Amino acid sequence: MTTRQRVLVVFCLALFPIIWVGADFLLAQYQALVTVKSSGPTLRWYKGNTHTHTLWSDGNDFPESVVRYYKDNGYNFLALTDHNVLSRGERWMAVSEVVNRRKTLGHPTMEKYRALFGSDWVETRKAEKDGAEEVRLKGLEEFRGMFEKKGEFLLIEGEEVTDYYKDGEHRHEVHINAVNLGEKISPQNGGSVQEVIANNLRMIREQEERLKRPILVHLNHPNFQWSIKPSEIANVIDQRFFEVYNGHPYINHLGREASEGVEAVPGDEQIWDIVNTIRIKDLKVPPLLGVATDDAHHYHGGESSPGRGWVMVHAKKLAAPDLIGAMRDGRFYASSGVTLALVHDDSDSLRVDIEPQEGATYVTEFFGTRKDSDPSKTGELLASYEDTQVIYYFSGDELFVRARVTSSLNHPNPSFEGQKQQAWTQPVGWKVHLPAPPETLAEKEPAAVTN
Ligand SMILES: [Zn+2]
Ligand SMILES: [Zn+2]
Repeated sequence: MTTRQRVLVVFCLALFPIIWVGADFLLAQYQALVTVKSSGPTLRWYKGNTHTHTLWSDGNDFPESVVRYYKDNGYNFLALTDHNVLSRGERWMAVSEVVNRRKTLGHPTMEKYRALFGSDWVETRKAEKDGAEEVRLKGLEEFRGMFEKKGEFLLIEGEEVTDYYKDGEHRHEVHINAVNLGEKISPQNGGSVQEVIANNLRMIREQEERLKRPILVHLNHPNFQWSIKPSEIANVIDQRFFEVYNGHPYINHLGREASEGVEAVPGDEQIWDIVNTIRIKDLKVPPLLGVATDDAHHYHGGESSPGRGWVMVHAKKLAAPDLIGAMRDGRFYASSGVTLALVHDDSDSLRVDIEPQEGATYVTEFFGTRKDSDPSKTGELLASYEDTQVIYYFSGDELFVRARVTSSLNHPNPSFEGQKQQAWTQPVGWKVHLPAPPETLAEKEPAAVTN
């Protein structure tokens, strides 16, 4: 080492604590910059649904009619996610089956289909074996062009990978949505609920890497058939998204109370907090982020109808990689009716601005788990405010904090009794409890020392 090099190293080492503090300061400045940018014109809010069914599996309307609904109702993106199938290939269906699937009165499905798209668009034939009338289900690539518009509406290919684990008589349903697929994923099975989740996730990640396309993966409705426990979700470390609200009326969103011979099961929100407490506190991995979806199956009224829940994503442009990237960064919220104008977190607070609807008042509740709290206080209510601009200052011992906004207005099409319109922000404030990722350390290394 030359004298000059030695002097440089000593100088840099002496400077190291200052650089370290400086890096934190710069990080704070960067975060402030991101905030200014995120509320500026470069990012836009996009409304989307990532869980939708059609006649391609057990939905009761044609995919084009379904897409028409979302486009006409202010959505910017939609993933059609039928059970274990992509909307591809030649597929004919008996018209009688289409008719049988509708359960309510109104214009018959075929009539509605013809009225929306014209008789020339609708393809029917007589089945060879019995002469019964059949209709062809169109593939995504055939109708995509009819709806998509740059910056306004996007269709993303998806699938609800529908798997299960049978434990004696109890069939545990394990449903995972994969959005932005390039190929179909077949259910992978496994020797436990956790293994079924992990095996399917591994196949999706394999496709993601092989085809070099980001794929959004969310675990669906854990309480459907009382299928999945919080620990089984938490321990699959690679899982990052979860349905905090699903509009299907049979998914037991609120959980259940204990009764004779039946144990209590937490609702979706409590599951979310339990899972995130395990992940941050014990496993030292990032929390799950929450999506809302409608899981629509029925488009002629009743049951699992569209429009009950969605996500709002703050992204640079309306393209699958941008939307998925923004969601992975936590730049989105889940909603069943409430619109937020701003969600901003920094090192000491979480701020939420609500876009008020006429005649509505709002309650914003901040939930979180404190570092050393007893398990009964997992996801406790930390504060509650009635205003349209609210801010929660961290006390410093929260593992995470999230906000839930509840409107005084009833949900126009409730999936459970007494449902109000709500919005859910992502959990924040957890990064300080996790070991710093290696690249952050590398960035903080003073460059001159390594030269
Ligand atoms: Zn499902
Ligand atoms: Zn579904």
